Parts: sequence; C-alpha cells; structure tokens
Amino acid sequence: MNSENIRAAREKAVRGERLELADALALYQDNDLLFLAECARSMKERKSGKSVFYNVNRHINLTNICTSNCPLCAFQCEEGDERGFVLEAADIAKILEEAQSVENLGEIHIVSALHPHKEFSYYLSVVRQVKAALPKADIKAFTPVEIVHFAQMTGQSVEKILLLLKEAGLSSLPGGGAEILSDRVRQIICPNKATADEWISTIKTAHKLGIRTNATMMYGHIETIAERLQHLFTLRDIQDETHGFQAFVSFPFHPAHTSLGEKYHLQRTGSWEDMKMLALSRLILDNIDHIKAFWIMLTMPLAQLALGFGADDLDGTIGEEKIIHAAGAKTNTGITRSRLRQMILEAGYLPVERDTFYHPVKEGEA
Ligand code: SF4
Repeated sequence: MNSENIRAAREKAVRGERLELADALALYQDNDLLFLAECARSMKERKSGKSVFYNVNRHINLTNICTSNCPLCAFQCEEGDERGFVLEAADIAKILEEAQSVENLGEIHIVSALHPHKEFSYYLSVVRQVKAALPKADIKAFTPVEIVHFAQMTGQSVEKILLLLKEAGLSSLPGGGAEILSDRVRQIICPNKATADEWISTIKTAHKLGIRTNATMMYGHIETIAERLQHLFTLRDIQDETHGFQAFVSFPFHPAHTSLGEKYHLQRTGSWEDMKMLALSRLILDNIDHIKAFWIMLTMPLAQLALGFGADDLDGTIGEEKIIHAAGAKTNTGITRSRLRQMILEAGYLPVERDTFYHPVKEGEA
C-alpha cells in the first residue's frame, strides 16, 4: 500500500465519506489508532450525539449440547457428556421468576447450541413461556445458524420458521454466528454450521419480514485482514439492501479451551487491535446506526475505552453468560445498571437506557 493510497483514505475518513475496501486496507496498514479514533468518534457523534446506550437484559442459554462440533467453540459438548445441560420449562420458569423482579427488564436474549433431538416445538414454547411471564420485554433470540438448523430439522422454510417464532413473540434476532462470512474461513473454524450464504439469506429473510437483527463479526483467528475487512463490506451491502441491521457487534476470538486455538496456537488479540477494529467498523459501516462494545467479550475497562473509538452502546446487564466464559473470558457474568451508567458518564457521554429497538425507556432521556 503506497503513501498516496493512505493519504487518500485518510482524507475520506476525515470527511466522513464512504470507504472502499482499498481505503480500509490502507487505514488498517497505516495503523494510526488515534487518528482512527478521532474519525470514528466524529461519525458516532454525527449519528447519536453524546448519547451512549445500554439496556437491562437477561441472557439465557438453553443448551450446550450441539451437533456441530465447531473448532472455534469451547461451549458445546456431545450428548452424554457430564457438562451437558438442557433447560426445561421448570428451569426457565425459575429464571423468569427472578427476571420479573428486575426493574424495567427490557429484553431477554436467548442463544443456544444445535441440540440433536430437541424439536422446534420446544423452542416455540420457550418463546411463548417468556412472553407470558414478561409481556413487556422484547425477545431477542436465535442466531441465523439456529434458524437454519430449525429449518433443516423440520423441513420447513426459513421464512416459515421465522414467522412461527414471530407469532410466538420473538421480536428480533441477535445476529450471531456470522463469524467471518467467507467459505474458506468457515471450512476451518465451523465447517458444519450454516454457510456464509445461508447466514446472509436468513438475515435478509428476517429483515424482509420486519424482524430486525444485529450484525456480528468474530475476528482474530485464522482469517486474513482482507477477509476480515471484506466481511464488514458484505454487511454494509446487506444493509444498503434491507436496512434491517440495528447494531454491529464485533467479538475478539477467545481461543482458550478450543481445538482451533490449540491447533493454530492462537492468542487473544490485544487491545490495540480491538480498538482499531472498533474504529474501522464505525467508519466502514456508515449505514448501521449503532456500534456495540460488548463488555462481556471485551472486559468492562476496554468496553468503556471503546466509547472513545466510535462505540455508542455497552449492551446490558446480562445476568448470566455461558458461551464466552466457556472459552476462558474472565469478565463478570452480570453488571448493575448504575455501574453501566457510571462507566458512560466517566467517558463524558450521556447514558440512555434503551429498549431492543433503541427507543429510550425513560422520560427525558433522548
Ligand atoms: S459455535 Fe454454536 S454451532 Fe458451533 S459448536 Fe458451538 S454451539 Fe454448536
């Protein structure tokens, strides 16, 4: 990459112009983190001013028993493994009872493994059970990978599966399982789960049905930088077409306890790389309103720092998380609303409690 390319890309970034892949590669190679931070923060402030969002949510992982055996995964296990669990209606009822006592709980977030025998009716009844217990909470549930699994299991189309879930009470999809949308990469990190095309077409179908989603990326494993950046451009193209993504979330790969990490001797990315990717994603994804710094993945100190690199959302209180913790994350599994607000205020921003769709939930908060 010559200095002329870098100069041109920097000028575009300063002016907030749409970047192309060559610009993104030039900015990546330029490696001027504080320059990227300044440009990303300007774009963030043009979109959401001084507001930084968070919500009061509860994660539920229904099972870790999975047919897919992805090398990237530390969470899944086979049937019969003593670490395996499946939440049944009574277990879920206990979680929901506890959730009912949380003031203004706005969202239940459900993601799980691909259980070999649990029928689709089980997942529908979980959604109905949550809706009955918490009628005001939005249900953000099931990645496109899970939706494709339900479609394969039942022989129904993805569209039909999504419609049935929507009818049962589902409000949005979390958008996980995108990893890197490259078949070369997926063949190595997750060869048995939904392909890049299946992930993309499921997301487009959801958007067509009015089901909004997040867009995600898991980086820092065996992908090249060009593949990683191309992933962001693929998401931008989808958004140009559907306008259905509400937020983008990126996760550094946590290699501990994964066969992928062991085979390729991978280490978790450093904070420089994490902040660089956050700022670059803010600049590239000019058509996605919100960039989330997912504190459970980044650690809270780094998520707070991300607010200076273009992020405008810290996700929520979470309550409990099993997937990333299985891969060695050392973060807490929950955080209080007041701690989230304090983190945002310290960074010089205005905390705004939101619902799933980024509507402020309290009077007077903009
Ligand atoms: S990443 Fe998801 S689909 Fe793959 S093994 Fe883990 S739980 Fe199963």
